[in-house]
Amino acid sequence: MSTLAEVLSRETREGDLYETLPDGRLRCYACGHCCPLPNGAIGVCKVRFNEGGRLQVPWGYVGGVQCDPVEKKPFFHAHPGALAYSFGMLGCDLHCSYCQNWVTSQSLRDPAAVAPPLRATPEQMVRDAVAQRARIMVSTYNEPLITSEWAVAVFKEARAAGLTTGYVSNGNGTPEVLDYLRPWVDLYKVDLKSFDDRHYRQLGGRIAPILDTIRRLHAMDFWVEIVTLLIPGFNDSRDELSRLTAFLADVSPHIPWHVTAFHRDYKMTDPPNTSADMLMTAADIGRANGLRHVYAGNLPGEVGDLEDTRCSACHELLVGRYGYYIREYHVTRDGRCPSCHQAVPGRWSAQFDGQITARPFVPATRRFTILSSL
Ligand code: SF4
Repeated sequence: MSTLAEVLSRETREGDLYETLPDGRLRCYACGHCCPLPNGAIGVCKVRFNEGGRLQVPWGYVGGVQCDPVEKKPFFHAHPGALAYSFGMLGCDLHCSYCQNWVTSQSLRDPAAVAPPLRATPEQMVRDAVAQRARIMVSTYNEPLITSEWAVAVFKEARAAGLTTGYVSNGNGTPEVLDYLRPWVDLYKVDLKSFDDRHYRQLGGRIAPILDTIRRLHAMDFWVEIVTLLIPGFNDSRDELSRLTAFLADVSPHIPWHVTAFHRDYKMTDPPNTSADMLMTAADIGRANGLRHVYAGNLPGEVGDLEDTRCSACHELLVGRYGYYIREYHVTRDGRCPSCHQAVPGRWSAQFDGQITARPFVPATRRFTILSSL
C-alpha cells in the first residue's frame, strides 16, 4: 500500500508559479517562503516539488468538500446568507499548534492527521455547487495559496457558472501569486495570527510577507476581511492588539476585523479558552484605533452587538446575526444604509434571498471517490 505522500506525488501537474534560477534550481512563488528547490527537493509545504527541472503541483483531488454558510468563513460583508461551497486540498506552509483544520493542513507532517483525498474535477465540483444553490465557491481547509493552480482551475469553471469566488488563507503570499489570482478571486480572508514576528516564527513563517500581502490585497481591490483568533497569553496583550489594529486601520478603516474565540485544539491545550469579556476588550481596542466594522466570533449570543453590522455613519442596524444565522437584513439593493444612504463597504447582492442554511453540511449528492491506491 502507498503512503499518502506517495499517492499525492502522483496527483500533480506542472505548476505555473515558478521560475528557473541561473544555477538550475527552481524558485516557487506560491507562498511567502519562496523555496529554492534543487532537483528532487520538496517545498516546506510538502506538496510542491522539483522533478527533473519542472515544478510539480497538486492536481485533481480534494481533501474535503463541505457546504458552509458564508458567515462561517467568515465573510460578513459579502452576500450575507449565501451558501459557500467550500473545498480544500492537503498541506500547509505553516504548522500552527492550535490549527482547527489540522486534519487536512497537517496530513503530510502528522501521521495522526488522516484525511483521505477524493478524486475531483473542477467541472464536477461546480456542477455540485450549482445543484446545492451555492452562490460562492471558496478554497479553504488547507492553505489555498500552496494549491493556487488547482483553485484557479476550479474558479474559472465557477465564474463561467456565475459564482463568486474566495480564498480563506493565512495571507503568506507573494506579489506573483496575487497577480496570478487577481483575475479569478473576488473575496480574500486573511488569518492575521499575531503582530509579532517571533510568534510567526514559532508557527513556521514570518510576519513581513503577510503584512505586505494584506496591503497588496486591498490595493488590488480584492474584498478583504481579516480574522484574528484571540489566544490568551499568545496574542492578546493590549500592546500587540493595538499595533495590529492600528496597522489594519492604516490600510483601510473599512476592512472588517473579526476577533474570534480560541478553544483548545490540536497540540495547543494549555491556554484557557477565550472569554466573551476578552473578545469585547479586543474589539474595543480595534474600534478605538479607527476600525469601523469589528466583530466578535465563536461565542454566539454572548458578545452584545458585536455579531451585527451597523452603518458606520448613523449606526443603523444593517445585518443582525446570531452566530451564522441572519436575523435581520436591511442593506439596500445598491449596497447602502437605508437610513442615511451611506455606502456599506463590501460585495452585496441586489437583494437578500434569505439564508439557505445557518449550518454547515456535506453535500448529499457528491460522488467523489477516494483515491484508489491509498
Ligand atoms: S508553496 Fe511555499 S512552501 Fe510550498 S514550495 Fe512553494 S514557496 Fe515553498
